[in-house]
Amino acid sequence: MTDFAHNLEAVRQRIAAAARNAGRAPESVALLAVSKTFPAQDVRTAHAAGQRAFGENYVQEAVDKIETLADLRASLEWHFIGPLQSNKTRPVAERFDWVHSVDRLKIAQRLSEQRPAGMAPLNVCLQVNVSGEATKSGVAPQEAAQVAHAVAALPNLRLRGLMSIPEPEATLDAQRAPHRLLRELFDALRADGLALDTLSMGMSADLEAAVLEGATIVRVGTAIFGARDYSH
Ligand SMILES: *Cc1c(COP(=O)(O)O)cnc(C)c1O
Repeated sequence: MTDFAHNLEAVRQRIAAAARNAGRAPESVALLAVSKTFPAQDVRTAHAAGQRAFGENYVQEAVDKIETLADLRASLEWHFIGPLQSNKTRPVAERFDWVHSVDRLKIAQRLSEQRPAGMAPLNVCLQVNVSGEATKSGVAPQEAAQVAHAVAALPNLRLRGLMSIPEPEATLDAQRAPHRLLRELFDALRADGLALDTLSMGMSADLEAAVLEGATIVRVGTAIFGARDYSH
């Protein structure tokens, strides 16, 4: 059994150092542990080390894990962060606490319709394509305001903010540029009256750049669980 406590502590230290450099409180940045491809037992181990929020990318894998870990459900927060096809929204609407990867209005409408009565509204972020043509997922920055207002009006969702997955860059300055763009968009939407509180940006390789630009959730997989194996 791998002990993730050391890795989690190292990531928390990186977040805290970046927050201090940015003049921010370390507690203003939440850590989402991205457990995709790793077994339920690894989530259980990280949970025992104090981690509460977990991110998953694949619907069936996530549903299996959530079921296996049903005994921990009350103290786990499940975040869906992967590409979502419209015919796969129902299990996500029924089981998750958050969806970061809303990339078109139709997905948001289905999630809202399928969110069971009696559950809290589903927290969602609008995914924005901040790297231009290099990546395809996410709404274009110039369309974000229109889509965000439409998503915010849906009854069973709570639009919390914006999410992005920029192209990898080697230097801190290059990493900061797309994160800054997302934060400027976020500031503009807030100035326009949307009550947003979440900027989901930054992964294992660029979390410092993201925290410097205002990330409130960083999504970290490799630095916690190790390299992913996609062979099975
Ligand atoms: C896999 C994944 C991550 C984690 O990436 P690492 O580089 O392993 O930290 C974060 N966000 C999304 C959307 C992902 O798919």
